[in-house]
Amino acid sequence: MNHDLRQAEKLTLSERRLLKRHSRSAIAIMAMHTLLCVVCFQLGYLQVDLELGLQMLFVVWGSLLAYQLLLATGLTLRLREPSLSLPLILHFMVVFMVSGYYVDEFRLSVVTLFFAGLLLVSFRLSGKVMIGVALLASVAYALMLWLALNDRWVRLSLSVEALQWLVFSMVSVSFAITGGGINRLRDALADKNRDLGRAVEQVREMAIRDDLTGLFNRRHLLEILERQRALSTRKGIPFAVCYVDLDHFKQINDRHGHDWGDRVLRRFSAIALAGMRDGDFFGRLGGEEFLLVLPQSDEQGALLVAERLRLRWREERFDDEGGPLLVSLSVGVAAYRDGESVDELLNRADQGLYKAKSGGRNQSQVA
Ligand code: GH3
Ligand code: MG
Ligand code: MG
Repeated sequence: MNHDLRQAEKLTLSERRLLKRHSRSAIAIMAMHTLLCVVCFQLGYLQVDLELGLQMLFVVWGSLLAYQLLLATGLTLRLREPSLSLPLILHFMVVFMVSGYYVDEFRLSVVTLFFAGLLLVSFRLSGKVMIGVALLASVAYALMLWLALNDRWVRLSLSVEALQWLVFSMVSVSFAITGGGINRLRDALADKNRDLGRAVEQVREMAIRDDLTGLFNRRHLLEILERQRALSTRKGIPFAVCYVDLDHFKQINDRHGHDWGDRVLRRFSAIALAGMRDGDFFGRLGGEEFLLVLPQSDEQGALLVAERLRLRWREERFDDEGGPLLVSLSVGVAAYRDGESVDELLNRADQGLYKAKSGGRNQSQVA
């Protein structure tokens, strides 16, 4: 059961892991773009000298690494869009347009990787923002073209440049439209992911809780006991248990009705819980039987706890609400002995309980 739950939890992807993937993709796109520019430079197509080229490289990678570091700190997780996709794609846009400005023959080729950037941020940005980004990129391309044509000798004809601008704008807008769909899909997936996470949490609670009282159930109590047993064996940490059984409970059901029986069980659960120390465990074994697990306690300590609970419960009256006058309880106490099993421990506690019942009830006894 627990194994299945852990598997299910793994299915719910954490935002941190997604962000890491996101920033790695951004680095990869920029690395490919840089490589492309270096090749253009080597072949003499990039109209910059080495010094300016290195300065631009420094600025581009410096800002991208700063972005990477910011995501890694987890500071952005509190933001509505923790991947900072809008600043990222604007950064890409500026970088691509500046490189496009310096490469005359291969302008469109050099800005092509901008589409990969659009694809990346389409997982994060809404359809409207994507369209806005695409239109802005189209304007930026036109501006870059205008500057380039004004500043340098035009190598390509104006009509070819204009055609390339049209191609760039159309592909950008197409990516933006398709990307909006991806984003909607991602939002839907994120919702499902959240639901799944909640369901897993709910199933986990249901697996360890008792329906009527909300206390730990028998299965979970046995797990706790096994854990305490292991701690005792490995580290010598002692523990003890109190096996609690309400007295003449059947009579309450018979005289006042089953609902009253349930009410008494719930009231007892609340009172016992309220009096517990931090680090102790309390659960319902079934019926009107409960178990207290007390780490770091020996028999005498457990007996004190049992007596305190018994006396506190004796103060509780129900007759003014139409229920039983008083309900007493009996407790069997046992401290864990080296080498014994959980079953053996519970059996000894049960023997103590038997002793308390046959001794007249309303008392705590050691086996
Ligand atoms: P003793 O003092 O010897 O413990 O007597 P008892 O009547 O408490 O013990 P017995 O085992 O004879 O009866 C337990 C009763 O608890 C029988 C069962 O109907 C009732 N019971 C078990 N689970 C529930 C429950 O969830 N709700 C209610 N109302 N009654 C329950
Ligand atoms: Mg019983
Ligand atoms: Mg009983």
